Amino acid sequence: MAEMPNPSPPARYPGAEHDARWRRLVLPAGYPQPEPRERYHLVVIGAGTAGLVTAIAAAGLGAHVALVERNALGGDCLNVGCVPSKSLLEFTRFAEDEHDDDERFDAAFERLRAVRAAIAEHDSVERYTQAGVDVFHGSAKFVDQWTVQAGSVRLVTRRTVIATGSHPRLPSIQGLAESRPLTNETVFDLKRRPKRLAILGAGPIGCELAQAFARLGVEVVMIESEPRVLSSEDPRASALVERALLDAGVVLELGASVTAVDRRGAHVSIALSDADGTAKEIGADELLVATGRRPNTDELNLAAVGVELDAQGRIVVDRYLRTTNPKIYAAGDVCSAVQLTHNADAHARIVVQNALFAPTATTEGLVIPRCTYTDPEVAQIGPTADELARAGTAFDAYRVDFAELDRGRMQRDEGFAEILTAAGSDRILGATIAGRDAGELIAPVAIAATLGIGLGDLGKAVLPYPTRSEFLRKAADRYRLTKLTPGRKRLLETWLGWRA
Ligand SMILES: Cc1cc2nc3c(=O)[nH]c(=O)nc-3n(C[C@H](O)[C@H](O)[C@H](O)COP(=O)(O)OP(=O)(O)OC[C@H]3O[C@@H](n4cnc5c(N)ncnc54)[C@H](O)[C@@H]3O)c2cc1C
Repeated sequence: MAEMPNPSPPARYPGAEHDARWRRLVLPAGYPQPEPRERYHLVVIGAGTAGLVTAIAAAGLGAHVALVERNALGGDCLNVGCVPSKSLLEFTRFAEDEHDDDERFDAAFERLRAVRAAIAEHDSVERYTQAGVDVFHGSAKFVDQWTVQAGSVRLVTRRTVIATGSHPRLPSIQGLAESRPLTNETVFDLKRRPKRLAILGAGPIGCELAQAFARLGVEVVMIESEPRVLSSEDPRASALVERALLDAGVVLELGASVTAVDRRGAHVSIALSDADGTAKEIGADELLVATGRRPNTDELNLAAVGVELDAQGRIVVDRYLRTTNPKIYAAGDVCSAVQLTHNADAHARIVVQNALFAPTATTEGLVIPRCTYTDPEVAQIGPTADELARAGTAFDAYRVDFAELDRGRMQRDEGFAEILTAAGSDRILGATIAGRDAGELIAPVAIAATLGIGLGDLGKAVLPYPTRSEFLRKAADRYRLTKLTPGRKRLLETWLGWRA
């Protein structure tokens, strides 16, 4: 995360007072470093979700814990990720249209800042120090496997957890870096509504922000090299999101490749070759880059402790989240292909057990849902149908369109839910849900997949009518129908014939 701007002189912009409170909580100016203990049970590097959960859980168990953060507690999720992006989306979903675009933009950003400051209480330096964690402010690097340099302080430790997260990756495009593009680290600092915004990358972050900004009256052009938005998701789900983006006024340049970027003062021009190979130039006030993330490992001096990275730059870990140095663990974005807050949280719970006690907790069997919070949302557990087909895995698909459900009809919901099971069985391999509240609706399927509850058994639960959750029952009924073989059907008919 980029260095936060210095809070003085007092700034005047929508929500400035909330920002001042937020910084006081997670990055207090003049924070006095604690006197380090002679030796810690655990040093945790990075105070994002993975580091915070690790530190507070370990301290709660009575361990002596040092937490080192070079920037603000809360990491990406609180400061420049989930919290500000979802606050913005939520505002644009329900805000009334009686104000002009500039007023709506200011109100949305003020709300974002208010929500972030309120949630910052939970990640505050005060909360962590009161819980018994020694919080150090500074950049950490290894001296050796027992010693971590944290700014000017040396910390001696039995075990270390690396939870340093990731940062936005800028593609190598002529003129891009020099054009001072926005990333997730700076876009929530905007003080004024840009009239035109170009977004590079139509993954979850690009799509969410494209929809939010378009709904705030910004002319948005989204440029993506893949032929569809959300290219990792089920194509039918990404088609729904694509239509919603177009409805919001977003211009899509899919299958396009950007050849050069040039900023002249307040104007940035983006040269691209579109899907037909035609050269085009797009003008904007701002360019936002959302083209993927890279783990934060450069500053850690990992070579000194034998911690290896994989080809993507991620820390290599085993199923116990041990790095290639068994005294050092890693958790969250820095060691995972799945870069999500709840994954970081799940990792933290594993490393606390393994780093403090016997290494018995593993990542095996974890079901990590993902959700893109556009309107409609797209949620997924496990592989998509395309991924299963590509892997040659035999599967059955039980799809329910929300338009088949009474609640879906009432709400004119065009979404769908599809549960994928191992062929001929009700063992859940994956599920895709696209539509309103898909992120909430995937929860029972994630629980079932984690606990090994089959689709057939899920159908035994009685669910409230009329809800979209009834897709579970409908999908289970469809599974049960496949068990009604012609032989069984004949048997039933004969039995009923006797009883007539
Ligand atoms: C725009 C956006 C929206 C997102 N939305 C969602 C969402 O809706 N749901 C979801 O689940 N996930 C979402 N994510 C992903 C989520 O934010 C991350 O997966 C999560 O923050 C990872 O937590 P972490 O602890 O691994 O790393 P981080 O949160 O990145 O924390 C790492 C911390 O380590 C610190 N650090 C790095 N190097 C050093 C060092 N050498 N010394 C000291 N400190 C160091 C960093 O300053 C940082 O504070 C979103 C991300 C973005 C960018």
